[in-house]
Amino acid sequence: MSNQHQKYGNMQCPNCGSHNTQSVSVAHQQSIRTGYNGYQSISAFGKDLEPPPPKSAFLYPLGVAYMVGVFTFFGLSEISTRLEESWPTLASWFGSHPIIASAIVGVIAGALVSLSAMGFNASTHRRQLNRWSKGVVCRRCGHRFNK
Ligand SMILES: [Zn+2]
Repeated sequence: MSNQHQKYGNMQCPNCGSHNTQSVSVAHQQSIRTGYNGYQSISAFGKDLEPPPPKSAFLYPLGVAYMVGVFTFFGLSEISTRLEESWPTLASWFGSHPIIASAIVGVIAGALVSLSAMGFNASTHRRQLNRWSKGVVCRRCGHRFNK
């Protein structure tokens, strides 16, 4: 705590000139209160300082897989008609295995979304988190700036 204060205490807020500034990550941590029952709450000030969230690589893709699967199932006759010209074998297989075919299409869609989310988390989100951890916040006026 005193270390953190020494480290960031000298940073001057470019907005109001106050030296009462703090690392965003420390300020965020301090704004979380754990109650007697273990319930955690965060102040409105701390809420603004939350780190950028990663993309869901599981729940959201699962939703997409479900939606695409259902959509495929109900649009199957339309899809089969379109496939018939280029891939007649696939079209007839689709027609005779509607549930499996829809599930496969859904799973593929979900996997693609999951892969793109993982890619986002590994690159863009890592950069966002890095920038967030370097942030400084003014405890007097709430202005945020970088070291
Ligand atoms: Zn300030």
